[in-house]
Amino acid sequence: METAEHETRKKRGDYHAAIGALAHGGMTVREIGRALGLSHQRVQQILAELACSFCGLAADAVARLVVGAGRQPTWKPGEPRKAAVSVYICDRCIVRAARTVRRGEELDEDGVLMTLASHASTEPCDFCGCRLGERTGLRARCESIVACDDARICRHCIAMASNIIETEWKQQKRALK
Ligand SMILES: [Zn+2]
Ligand SMILES: [Zn+2]
Ligand SMILES: [Zn+2]
Repeated sequence: METAEHETRKKRGDYHAAIGALAHGGMTVREIGRALGLSHQRVQQILAELACSFCGLAADAVARLVVGAGRQPTWKPGEPRKAAVSVYICDRCIVRAARTVRRGEELDEDGVLMTLASHASTEPCDFCGCRLGERTGLRARCESIVACDDARICRHCIAMASNIIETEWKQQKRALK
C-alpha cells in the first residue's frame, strides 16, 4: 500500500468528518463554508456523503464520526481502478462494536445488527486493513472483527476510536470549566 496515498485519503476523511462535527455543533452550511473557504454547495455535498458506515446516521445526527483509511473496492483486471470508499464510525456504534466484541452478536433497540466475523472470513478491517488472525506492525494478533452490513472494524480500531472520543470529551469538559 502506498503510504502517501493512504495518508492523503485519511486526511481528506478527517477533514470531511470535521465538517460533520461543525454541522452537528450547530453551524450552518454557510457559516462552515465561510470558515473553511468553501462554497456552501461544496459543504452541503460533503455533508450529504457523510454518514456512519455502520448505523447509517448522517454526520449532523451523531455526536462524532471517526474516520477510517477506507476500503478498497473490489477490482478485476481490465477494469478501471475505483477510488477507495471512506469509512466512518459514529460514537454510538463504537460503543455497540465494543459490546459486540465482549458479548457476541447484538441487535440493539435501534435495529442495528452487529456480528462478529467468523474465523473463515478474510475480509479486512476497514480502518486499519488487518485481517483476523493477522499481526500488523507492533500490534497484537487481530482477534476480532465486528461487522455491520459491509462495514468492518477490528478490536484494535474500536479501542483506538474509543480513546479518540474519550480524549476529545475530556478536552471539551476542560474547555467548558
Ligand atoms: Zn453509527
Ligand atoms: Zn482495524
Ligand atoms: Zn486489528
